[in-house]
Amino acid sequence: MTQDIVQDWLAAFRPRALAAGISAGTLDLALAGVTLREDVLKKERNQAEFTRTIWDYLDRAVSPTRIAAGVAALQTHADLLNRIEARYSVDRQIVVAIWGLESNFGAVRGDVPTVAALATLAATNRRGAYFEGELIAALRILQAGDVTVAGMQGSWAGAMGHTQFMPSNYLTLAVDFDGDGRRDIWGDDPSDALASTAAYLARWEWRKGQPWGVEIVLPQGFDYRLSGDKVHKLSTEWQALGVTKAGGGDLPDHGAAWVLLPGGARGAAFLIWPNFHVIEHYNRADAYVLAVGHLGDRIMGGGPIQTPWPRDLRALTQAEGMDLQRRLTDAGFDTGGADGRIGPRTQSAIRAYQTAMGLVPDGFASSDLLHHLRAKGGQS
Ligand code: CA
Repeated sequence: MTQDIVQDWLAAFRPRALAAGISAGTLDLALAGVTLREDVLKKERNQAEFTRTIWDYLDRAVSPTRIAAGVAALQTHADLLNRIEARYSVDRQIVVAIWGLESNFGAVRGDVPTVAALATLAATNRRGAYFEGELIAALRILQAGDVTVAGMQGSWAGAMGHTQFMPSNYLTLAVDFDGDGRRDIWGDDPSDALASTAAYLARWEWRKGQPWGVEIVLPQGFDYRLSGDKVHKLSTEWQALGVTKAGGGDLPDHGAAWVLLPGGARGAAFLIWPNFHVIEHYNRADAYVLAVGHLGDRIMGGGPIQTPWPRDLRALTQAEGMDLQRRLTDAGFDTGGADGRIGPRTQSAIRAYQTAMGLVPDGFASSDLLHHLRAKGGQS
């Protein structure tokens, strides 16, 4: 039999795993027949190219179908969710919304063998060391007997079960909520997985009753330099600046909050509290956090986002995002590297550039902004 790249890698990995406390017996069992997964590499390649606008993402993530399924899940699992909320002080709609986004309420938990997925990524990915750490964690889980090798399945990237825990998160935070002696996030019963998700959010200091955010309307002439997570003010202070709650009524008061403009100055605006950052521990993308928060609101009976999105704008490709970052850095507005991902540092650089150029400083990476930078910088 010909060796593949993963089998070669595993031969070198085995002594490291033994040194990390994984038994020879566990390794024999878990690594038997593990080879390169072409499907994992294919999905990884597709992931890298994928860019989407916030409105396109939300249309899919918070679709009428998913809202209806979330409402049904709240009812079906009301007793379980009561007990989880009582134990962990995490609002049920956030746990259910994460469940909805991660596995469509358990329907799509992933059927890729986790050990093979992680071994493939550890052997081939530029973040190989990270995936090797997750593989060791996965082997520890198998060694502890929480799940069988065949039962340990999940996504192409190693995330497992109803709420897609990475193995290292599972090891530190998964709980045996139903008390059967196993922390089972893979099986049909979602009890352990949902409780583990609540435990994870509690670990990052979720504050029960505090909203992730609310949609707001900014006044004419709003100073957009006040947007972004660098500027925190109390609701009363935002109200004094003319900021109002979308749909009317007073802004809720939950301490210092900041203004998020996920679609730029022409799109919907949100006032954001620290629970937003707690959800970021699941996935750092604003689009994901907004989808979780908004889906949670919708399944509790909340209405749709009211301000229309600037749907005439398109998403920057990763190459365009990198070009944008390089040009900003060249112009003296450091983005901290050019990876094509528009994070807080790039947004700050955009805001500073927009301010210097007399543009609306909303920190939004639009194609218009890229055109502006290209016109300034010539054809390079
Ligand atoms: Ca259990």
